[in-house]
Amino acid sequence: MRSDAPRVAVVGGGICGLAAAHRLARSGVPVTVLEGSDQLGGLGTFAPWRDTWVERFYHCVMPSDEHLLALLDELGLHGAVRWRRTGMGMVVDGRRHPFNSALDLLRFTPLGVLDRLRFGVVTLLLRRLGRGRDLDATRTEDWLRGLYGDAAWETLLAPLFGAKFGPSFGDVPALYLWQRLGRESNVSVRGYPAGGYKAVVDALRAAIEAEGGVVRTGSPVLRLGGGGVVALADEVLRADRVICTLPLPALRRIADEELAARLPDLQLPYQGVVNALFFLRRPLSGHYWTPVVRSGADFDGLVEMSALTGALDGRHLVYAMRYTGRDSALYHEGDEAVAARWTEQLLRLHPDLAPADVEEVRVYRAPFVEPVYPLGFLSRQPPVELPGTSLLLATTAHVYPAVTSWNSSVRLANRVAALVTASPRGAPRP
Ligand SMILES: Cc1cc2nc3c(=O)[nH]c(=O)nc-3n(C[C@H](O)[C@H](O)[C@H](O)COP(=O)(O)OP(=O)(O)OC[C@H]3O[C@@H](n4cnc5c(N)ncnc54)[C@H](O)[C@@H]3O)c2cc1C
Repeated sequence: MRSDAPRVAVVGGGICGLAAAHRLARSGVPVTVLEGSDQLGGLGTFAPWRDTWVERFYHCVMPSDEHLLALLDELGLHGAVRWRRTGMGMVVDGRRHPFNSALDLLRFTPLGVLDRLRFGVVTLLLRRLGRGRDLDATRTEDWLRGLYGDAAWETLLAPLFGAKFGPSFGDVPALYLWQRLGRESNVSVRGYPAGGYKAVVDALRAAIEAEGGVVRTGSPVLRLGGGGVVALADEVLRADRVICTLPLPALRRIADEELAARLPDLQLPYQGVVNALFFLRRPLSGHYWTPVVRSGADFDGLVEMSALTGALDGRHLVYAMRYTGRDSALYHEGDEAVAARWTEQLLRLHPDLAPADVEEVRVYRAPFVEPVYPLGFLSRQPPVELPGTSLLLATTAHVYPAVTSWNSSVRLANRVAALVTASPRGAPRP
């Protein structure tokens, strides 16, 4: 550790906090990660199953995830990502359709023939059509309805890309979708780290500790001051700089009065998620991703993880997800009720699946997945360095217009760590 280096506290042990701490520890900065729960990994965290681990929420790596892949390289894990060509399906009005090729599109009967042709042509040209437009100030629905027509918007586009935002998808800046199409330009190839996301988290923790950093779990930050005072349940730490990776509403809850007055007053709504993980005795469709539209199911889509990872100890893992606000009735419904109803709905959509094929169902939730970005968010995005404080904000709201992902969190972590090493004590406080 460099003797002149600042002491840095990182609040949150998800990928962003761990990647920032890794970068700082490697530069000789004394760093302590404070994770509130008893597990690292945040939204990418995992749960024990038999003698292994499964992700609570489906996760995969895309070939375009350059920042994440570079980090995996540093950790000696790049070669450990297994890439696979994966397929996609659609369930519309209870009927299943493959959705992978021009031929699949031509046979996609939920859309009329002209709409299918229009969908194909516009999709090919879409990235080009967006150039030169102020997409940050354009509603997604205004942009896409105009180009694709009403039927394609309602039957395909909103279900394909909008599940994360629910009915608000149409209002989100079109720039978000533009970025997402860039990330997913090679959507058929996906990767998964050998040993799962736990292997990545374990490697990060080991690397941080090997460089002299400290990683603490079960250490929720209860109060945070702008001057670097970090209060835990039974001690108070003083840091030169604090990197906070919590979603903005969670940060607001722990900020002391002085800090709260300096936080951006954004009132940014966040979407949460309810997600059921099915352990099946047989494969479902073989498609990694299947949006489910107008089919009497409460979930918006299915991710058949085993299509990417292969079966796990003879079981096929399928996630059903519904993105929803943390105030919704569904978010507060009991796990057993959600598991029972979603199982019944899954069986109805897949008559070839018998109740005995469903070995176990687990329900997981997260209150804050992604902010529902308002129009013109680029100019309203809060700064990373909070003026007049020693705080750096590295939250999911700061990755916009990139899609929230491990890749965008690692990129943000690199940026924040570079700011700390360039200006160790931060701007002078007033
Ligand atoms: C259903 C779903 C599917 C996804 N699929 C993918 C995918 O396929 N690929 C991909 O790359 N990304 C995916 N993501 C997105 C990805 O998980 C997130 O973008 C990423 O994990 C965000 O990391 P983070 O560190 O910024 O935040 P978080 O993971 O939210 O980490 C914040 C951490 O702070 C901790 N914390 C909260 N309060 C306190 C406190 N007071 N004190 C201390 N610690 C606290 C939390 O416990 C948490 O560990 C998915 C997310 C979901 C929900």
